[in-house]
Amino acid sequence: MRLEELALKWALKNAVEHGGKALPGPVIAKMIGEDSGLRERIGEVKEAAMRAVERVNSMGLEEQRRLLGELAPELLEERRVEEEKKLPPLPGAEKGKVVTRLPPEPSGYMHVGHAMSGLLNYLYARMYEGRLWLRFEDTDPRKVKPEYYESFRKGYRWLGIEWDHEKNNSDDMELFYEYAERLIGMGKAYVCSCSVERVRELRRIGEECEHRGQDVETNLRLWEGMLSGRFREGEATLRLVGDMKHKNTTMRDPALFRIVEHPHPLTGTRYRVWPLYDFAVSIEDHLCGVTHVLRTSEFALRDELQNYIRSLLGMRNPIYVEYSRFEFRGTPVSKRKLRAIIESGLARSWDDPRFPTIEGLRRRGILPEAIREFTITQTGFTYAERIYDWSLLYAVNRKLLDPKARRLFFTPEPVKLRVRGFEGGEVEAPYHPENKELGSRRIRVGELYYVPGPDARAMRPGDLVRLKYLMNVRVLSVGEVVEAEFQGREPLRDVKIIQWVPVEDAVEVEVLVPGPLYLDEDEINPESLKVVKGFGESAVASVDVDEIVQFERFGFCRRDRGDKAVFIKAHD
Ligand SMILES: [Zn+2]
Repeated sequence: MRLEELALKWALKNAVEHGGKALPGPVIAKMIGEDSGLRERIGEVKEAAMRAVERVNSMGLEEQRRLLGELAPELLEERRVEEEKKLPPLPGAEKGKVVTRLPPEPSGYMHVGHAMSGLLNYLYARMYEGRLWLRFEDTDPRKVKPEYYESFRKGYRWLGIEWDHEKNNSDDMELFYEYAERLIGMGKAYVCSCSVERVRELRRIGEECEHRGQDVETNLRLWEGMLSGRFREGEATLRLVGDMKHKNTTMRDPALFRIVEHPHPLTGTRYRVWPLYDFAVSIEDHLCGVTHVLRTSEFALRDELQNYIRSLLGMRNPIYVEYSRFEFRGTPVSKRKLRAIIESGLARSWDDPRFPTIEGLRRRGILPEAIREFTITQTGFTYAERIYDWSLLYAVNRKLLDPKARRLFFTPEPVKLRVRGFEGGEVEAPYHPENKELGSRRIRVGELYYVPGPDARAMRPGDLVRLKYLMNVRVLSVGEVVEAEFQGREPLRDVKIIQWVPVEDAVEVEVLVPGPLYLDEDEINPESLKVVKGFGESAVASVDVDEIVQFERFGFCRRDRGDKAVFIKAHD
């Protein structure tokens, strides 16, 4: 596709999804996403995107839809309608006016909880033809790391989430300082040099410290001292004049700024006074024009504080929409718990297939569409705590994989079977019982086969067994090798059907089978990863890295990176 046409297509798509107005940023990203070779021609790509955006934005929405339908009908998906039917309406939402945000803290890898809440924010922005921000909440220099920013961008893209604007809270430090000074000037913030322990105690018992009574001039002078380095880390904080007896303890004169003597991955050592979460979020939600904050219940107590900060500064408050937290049975999303697993040596990396990180789920063979569908169908706006069961996500994944995954033979814990009286030759077996598009393979067959250990152990002399697609055999004796004789090729009724692998062309296969990481709250499951060894048919060697196949009577498995045929079992 020509550059101009490519730019036009994505500009149309972007516009149609956002009430008729496209932005160059997402268009450029999409163009490069479709053709990575364009990275080399980024200058031309940008120009083409700008021209296309200008042209598209001068059209009406209907015209945009029509043109997109001609140019790339597949992008005017019905999926959108299907998805939106399932989502409850957003309270107080108006078409074209909704602004939501993805607010990740880049202090760890993206996990399934981020994915689900990100999807909700994205789907609602799109449903109301609004806008979506990606905003990194990165004002804790000790916690944030460069690689985490990219982990989120990559994860959101993988899920099909497109955002319209991107920024970091750390971009706005000067602005945060201005607002802080305004609060000090209003007598609504003061510099406190009490120890952490003293502040904690006073907040607990609801008493004020002596610094609260300082006049504005003193506070401005001390604030200047914080900024200029007269105080060291831990020696002073800027606190809000709240209410030390408030029943919501977050309102008891919380710290708004503190000193952190640690370089920030993006701003280095330029700033040493950093806003705390609630202050940064209050200001940023205002700056981004966020209309709806979709959040989980554990943040509920903070709404009051954030609303109060904004009300002091004359800013409008968003509508809060609460949904239950995304907790999964047996697999904590908590960084602390996952780190404990890595430190115990049980897992080596954050993309371990037992982990609920996006990279872990991807490696396990969970499709982004499955996470999308799961989020849409399972999320209700509710205060109720609920624990999700992984089996529900697996069921959705299985439903999506079932019609398109190739079926292959893999024999775990293999045992040899010798068939007498069979002439051998070749057999053609389809890769899928219904989906003919997946084609078939020819398997060379002879006298010796591997069959699954559990099946072999259950065999008794006289049993009739069918080797799928191939023949029926009668078991003669069971030993180290199962001896059997040929009983015809036509399928028989009520005969157990098993998979098999010709010994001559067998490929060594290893399947990692992930299980739950934790047995209960704090007890690590020592057997959370099993390794199943066996043989696969020769076609297994042709499975590409990342391809997900179904090993018959075993489960859906994704081919992992590396030269050896190593697979990871997603689920049955
Ligand atoms: Zn104090």
